[in-house]
Amino acid sequence: MMPPLTVIFGSYQAKKYDEGTWFINFMEGSQNLYLLEGEDKALLIDTGYGTNTLAEFVKTITQKPILVANTHFHPDHAGGNGEFPAVMMHHNWSADANAVKPGPNLPFDIAALPHPDYEKVSLHDGDVIDLGSRKIEVLELCAHSNSSLAFLDRSHRLLLTGDELEAGQVLLYDLSASGKPYDLKMRLLAHRENMKRLRVLQPAIDCLLPNHNGFPIDVSYIDDFIALTDGIFAGNAEIEDKLNHRFIEMDPIAPRLCRVKLGRVSFFMEKEPLLAFYGKGE
Ligand SMILES: [Zn+2]
Repeated sequence: MMPPLTVIFGSYQAKKYDEGTWFINFMEGSQNLYLLEGEDKALLIDTGYGTNTLAEFVKTITQKPILVANTHFHPDHAGGNGEFPAVMMHHNWSADANAVKPGPNLPFDIAALPHPDYEKVSLHDGDVIDLGSRKIEVLELCAHSNSSLAFLDRSHRLLLTGDELEAGQVLLYDLSASGKPYDLKMRLLAHRENMKRLRVLQPAIDCLLPNHNGFPIDVSYIDDFIALTDGIFAGNAEIEDKLNHRFIEMDPIAPRLCRVKLGRVSFFMEKEPLLAFYGKGE
């Protein structure tokens, strides 16, 4: 029997990684949030689904004033924003706004959270969030979503990648419900450019912290994703119709998706637009 959603989505567990860094796990361990503490303030990265229990949980870990930022404006990352009076996010968040509207994607009543009209504070590439002896750099990296940010913490040698890089699979299909056309090839090229940008940062970091499917992960995943994109254009990446993902298989779009894979990394993409350029060079 399925446990109630409040249990699945609201059973947070914090794991301390180093002095001032916690990984917060939920959804039966498949999703992560992060809490980074500096001398003056703490930064919560992402807010989960909106169970109205996260703000309280975070206060059990840190006594510092809590800032909040989203890796991107998707329901499993920004659904709980209304638990807080203000949230920092990509300046283009509204391009993904439909993804976080009340509806089937949001199993909780986010309108009933304590701050439904919370302040949205825009972040831009190059911004720095100063927590006191710990500075977090903001990078815009949009391929999976229109509002993706990565967060670089040079002092603790961490790079938080949101859903743009993870060890399970990166989702490259239209998740924003904006009604605008979705250009898969453009997204793929953007993803590779972003990975090349992250590759330059490799000497400054020890590990990558994605939001799903395992963490921390090795920096070599950056190169693997570059190779996967190259492999798609070269036609030597593998296309699998079986997704092997129990949540995405329930999505109405699932029959149109495939997993395209090279080595240990993969993308979920719509198969038809993929075949238009697969193996045909750039
Ligand atoms: Zn996402």
